Amino acid sequence: MSPHFGFIHDYDLRANDEPSARGVTCAVCDTSPVLFQWSDYSGEAMCHECGCPYQLKWGSDEQRTESKYPYLSFMVEFVPIAREYWQAKKAFVTYGTMLNGHQWIAALNAWLRQHHPEWLEPKPEKAMIEKENPCPA
Ligand SMILES: [Zn+2]
Repeated sequence: MSPHFGFIHDYDLRANDEPSARGVTCAVCDTSPVLFQWSDYSGEAMCHECGCPYQLKWGSDEQRTESKYPYLSFMVEFVPIAREYWQAKKAFVTYGTMLNGHQWIAALNAWLRQHHPEWLEPKPEKAMIEKENPCPA
């Protein structure tokens, strides 16, 4: 798959060439199938609609060993919050995976401060989703 949509280059959309990118329903915006774009994290792509991040390849040692891609890159507990944000704002929920995504992160943080400030507190290292958090089918 190599859609152009007017882009000068389509590198980001090459994420859709990954076998793990096929037939995914987004856990946040329910788009199905998801059209992905690469994030700035190795092997991770985001839903083109809402920015929900998924590990399509590589990732942690556990993910490489288990190899049941895609893996949701949000904590399961954050998915309802991300869905609420998507419903309220229709804005990217990308959270730190894009080097140039600071405007989305700032908007999400402002919304979290108002609605779910507990999510602005530091979380334990387990925050990175591992094999026990497979992508919902
Ligand atoms: Zn989505």
